[in-house]
Amino acid sequence: MTKMHTLLLPLFFTFLTLSQSQPHSDAPPSSTVCIIGAGIGGSSVAHFIRKYSPDLTPTTKIQVFERNNIVGGRIATVTIAGETFEAGASILHPKNLHAVTYTKLLKLKDAVDRFSKYYEETGSRPIFETVDEMLKWSGLFNLTTRTLQDELVDAGLSPLLINELVTVITRINYGQSVYMSGLGGAVSLAGSGGGLWSIEGGNFQMAAGLINRSEVALHLQEEIKSVADLGDYYELNSTKGNSYICDVAVVATPLDELNIQFIPPISIPERKLQHTHATFVRGLLNPVYFGLKAAAKIPDLVATLEDPKLPFTSISVLKEHNEEESTYKIFSRQPMTDILLDSIFSVRKETIRINWAAYPQYHAPEIFAPFILDGRHLYYVNAFENAASTMETSAVAAENIARLILSRYFGKVSVHSSNLNLKASSQEEDAHLDL
Ligand SMILES: Cc1cc2nc3c(=O)[nH]c(=O)nc-3n(C[C@H](O)[C@H](O)[C@H](O)COP(=O)(O)OP(=O)(O)OC[C@H]3O[C@@H](n4cnc5c(N)ncnc54)[C@H](O)[C@@H]3O)c2cc1C
Repeated sequence: MTKMHTLLLPLFFTFLTLSQSQPHSDAPPSSTVCIIGAGIGGSSVAHFIRKYSPDLTPTTKIQVFERNNIVGGRIATVTIAGETFEAGASILHPKNLHAVTYTKLLKLKDAVDRFSKYYEETGSRPIFETVDEMLKWSGLFNLTTRTLQDELVDAGLSPLLINELVTVITRINYGQSVYMSGLGGAVSLAGSGGGLWSIEGGNFQMAAGLINRSEVALHLQEEIKSVADLGDYYELNSTKGNSYICDVAVVATPLDELNIQFIPPISIPERKLQHTHATFVRGLLNPVYFGLKAAAKIPDLVATLEDPKLPFTSISVLKEHNEEESTYKIFSRQPMTDILLDSIFSVRKETIRINWAAYPQYHAPEIFAPFILDGRHLYYVNAFENAASTMETSAVAAENIARLILSRYFGKVSVHSSNLNLKASSQEEDAHLDL
């Protein structure tokens, strides 16, 4: 979740192509791929289609629809007192969390190593038609069938250690307890032990940069409200009253809380999203609330256990402006009311609240939605989010979707799925033993 690379992509908003709506008429003369959502998932689908098949560029249009007025989705920034901070996907410093020790103790890096199989050369790496196949191939599937708690108990950790220390990490990363699925938990734990990464000016620039480089028509502030299969093509209708004709349609956003109408209807397993309330406060914490004598004694990160009486998951210092004033980020499962904030802070000059439909509520065993929603050319990137929700996993799922499109619609690459079952079973067993 907090894997660190240094990736600097230029900010080219001014060059983003804004295109006009297309008339509602015949099928387009060239192929059109329509992508709903300009987060890291949608922008990565566009990027990988272009990367793997540059020859399609003159004849294949990529249209990206984004309901917000900015790309990035759950990678977004807030500005407080003129300074910019990550509001959603950010980084997590492992220093206070014992994560490095756990990672070594539990061999959780093995889960990360397995994940890195998705970066192997495309020549030897299959294109996956289902999330199950994809996870089985890397040996990660079994981790989605048991809870993190079960995996850790089997690894010999005492319930006290799990409940008091591992819980802190899963709560910060996913707002959930150790009863979440083992894979989500492993990603949360193993990721926090690595180096950190972030992009100056905001991580959302990754999505912006990818869109800019991928020759797409970007429709900002255009929400898609329906997707109809009209036989040879799809018709997308937006809340602006525009219709778009697409040969391939990609859903790159979680469908769980959306009202997009699919004609004919699609069927996906029910999934609940964990809401994380991110509250940003410029001010000063009240030491009395924490049973301390001075604000300076309050640690930079206050994390909490699973206790219904505790009103927040974590409070961290984003920036100390001076002794009297810092900017803090609070994560909580419920909104932070003014009354509550006034008891936690002795000074509160500015407050910004964001209610994120943040990530799936993870359960074991996980049941995955299909990548291919209709057996034709309607794809769903966020089916993979039941495995784990990170910027990186979104990009990995998006790459697979791009390869599926190139293979199934454009006939570009062959699907190497014949050996899947064989490889899967042996690696799944390994995954279990390692944990
Ligand atoms: C508080 C928080 C902290 C996190 N911390 C981390 C972290 O430290 N590290 C990490 O790697 N990950 C983190 N994550 C997870 C990470 O943000 C997500 O996994 C990732 O950004 C998902 O990207 P996505 O493109 O799949 O979806 P999204 O980013 O949700 O993108 C979907 C896009 O689709 C748009 N959209 C939705 N419906 C429509 C429609 N009908 N028409 C047009 N557009 C539409 C949305 O506006 C959105 O822009 C965090 C998430 C949250 C909320």
